[in-house]
Amino acid sequence: MTIPNRGPESASARVRGGLDLDALRAGVGGALLADIDRAVAWDVPLKTSFRGLTRRDGVLLHGPAGWGEVAPFWDYDADAAAPWLAAALEQATVGNADLPRLRETIPVNITVPAVDPDRARALIAEAGTAAGPARHAATPPSALPVTVKVKVAGARVSDRQGLAADLERIEAVRDAIGPHGRIRIDVNGAWDLETARRILPLMNAAAQGLEYVEQPCGSTQALADLRRLVDIPIAADESIRLAADPLAVARLDAADVAVLKVAPLGGARRALALAERLGLPAVVSSAIDTSVGIGAGVALAAALPGLKHACGLGTVRLLARDVAAPAAIPADGALPVRPVHVSRALLRTAAADAELTARWQLRLSHITAALQRRRERERAHAGSVVAGLPL
Ligand SMILES: [Mg+2]
Repeated sequence: MTIPNRGPESASARVRGGLDLDALRAGVGGALLADIDRAVAWDVPLKTSFRGLTRRDGVLLHGPAGWGEVAPFWDYDADAAAPWLAAALEQATVGNADLPRLRETIPVNITVPAVDPDRARALIAEAGTAAGPARHAATPPSALPVTVKVKVAGARVSDRQGLAADLERIEAVRDAIGPHGRIRIDVNGAWDLETARRILPLMNAAAQGLEYVEQPCGSTQALADLRRLVDIPIAADESIRLAADPLAVARLDAADVAVLKVAPLGGARRALALAERLGLPAVVSSAIDTSVGIGAGVALAAALPGLKHACGLGTVRLLARDVAAPAAIPADGALPVRPVHVSRALLRTAAADAELTARWQLRLSHITAALQRRRERERAHAGSVVAGLPL
């Protein structure tokens, strides 16, 4: 039997996790991948379940500027995932080296998922072995107080037990970081206006003052209304990355802080342009990504004209493994601004098995087609371009 010679890309497809780039390029929008020479699916367990997940997976694309990451969650359809691919292509083909670099380190927060108070204390102590929050709460070298982001999933249903668990978790975090640390909570849009008005003061008291509450309500109008009812700063996340009109956040005076995420906003350059149009203090955050995805967030955070809050880029420690050496894990509460070096050996250990690789092969073909269609639509109808910033 003769095995046809299908070129070097097909050879890479035979490596564990390797996608068949020839096949992807033959599909709709395949030209978008013209400069990509490797595509590797990865799959890594999480140390603590997050968003109900116990593993994270995605694809790393390699091009002339290095590696880019596309890792949309599986509940995102191809259209929602298209900006994630645009961000990965920007990172792999153009890179971030020519973005402004206004700082050398990025202060980052510690993330506490919806866990019990003991686990919350343990997570902060673990982070503290690198960040030293207990000892240096007032003045860590990152020059910002220790900042903890607490998920408050229990309050999603506003039941007594869920709320009590959330309040206990917040109290435990305050106890662990001391009076000078900052606590922010993320509600992921779960409350209506009345629930937010009722529960927020309780959480603010448990925290002895919140730095801000992230996306307490789903709609931008509800954020604007709430902002006129409570004296607690509000950050917009979903209202920026998922909304058809993210600039409404600024127009309605709906938030005090803008949360910016590179992947759902289609790349560091587009996120930077959006930050300028919003004109709000920004916090750069991410999904749980490998150091490659985090690297794009770090580049964005380094390029922002002002950075007054810790960024949500300290999540690599939630992964059991990573692909870069050194990994983008904070020290002294901050991440250095530096290029990310993917280790071949680590990439091999993180590579997805054949079944998951095949699923990504198919999914990436759908996402590539969706990105192509969106760009065609934007060229044909200028009015369809979100925030005036083409993807
Ligand atoms: Mg959020």
